[in-house]
Amino acid sequence: DVAYVNGRFMDLADATVPVEDRGLQFGDGVYEVIRTYRGRPFQVEAHLARLAQSAAAIGLALPEAARQFPALIDEGIRRAAYPDCKVYLQITRGVAPRDHAFPGRVAPTVIMTFRLMRPLDPALAANGVAVVMADDIRWGRCDIKSVNLLANVLARQRALEAGAFEALLVRGGRITEGAVSNVMVVRQGGLRTAPVGPEILAGVTRHLVLELARKEGLPIKEEAVTRDELRSADEVFLTGTTVEVLPVVTVDAMVIGSGCPGPISRLLQQRFQEVALV
Ligand code: PLP
Repeated sequence: DVAYVNGRFMDLADATVPVEDRGLQFGDGVYEVIRTYRGRPFQVEAHLARLAQSAAAIGLALPEAARQFPALIDEGIRRAAYPDCKVYLQITRGVAPRDHAFPGRVAPTVIMTFRLMRPLDPALAANGVAVVMADDIRWGRCDIKSVNLLANVLARQRALEAGAFEALLVRGGRITEGAVSNVMVVRQGGLRTAPVGPEILAGVTRHLVLELARKEGLPIKEEAVTRDELRSADEVFLTGTTVEVLPVVTVDAMVIGSGCPGPISRLLQQRFQEVALV
């Protein structure tokens, strides 16, 4: 595996950061995960735009290297030479003696890793997955893709321990998103998903799938479904870089629709694949 740390490519096994990196001590940083299809990074402009937004939102000035991110990402993908690659890109506020307030004049730490992207188990995409609901205990700025992921970590772990794939996060009775994905619901002939705002990450895949749904003429309402409305959902699916479009067939013990991936989930899955695999 290949890594990039502050201007240098190296073997991932040799990549380190100092213990006083603020990413490590405060989670003071932002990140992106980008994958390739057929060797090319997918939606890289959208991911880098969101990275810039996340950085700006935490008052982190992008380093000079940011201008070369597209070229560096290409270079890392080339060096890793996997059929498909998962690119992790993280920027932290840098290394400084531990103190909560911003340090003066430190260079941000830029890290990238390039690992093999294992395709999602085709059986999951074909048959759908089980999910559980979990309280959304995250902070009030879930639109910032920050490296503070403890609430997401705990929710996903709970899901896996329950034999499920993902946790649907519930805040004030509304489904906000998943621990690692956005959530879409088909109900009364239309598509529903939580609106972009502080309660969710504006998913790159979410945006693309809504665009595909619009092209199909599906009515779309960007309004979170409530836990109660979920009971009468015809279909539920997840979207995300790592999950693509992934049908959900049970939520806790409740069966969604017929218990099989529904027609709209399958249609959007197919349209997504067409765009990804061009
Ligand atoms: N929501 C959360 C909390 C995430 O971590 C992710 C990341 O994959 C997503 C949604 C989906 O975003 P994207 O489609 O940009 O990968």
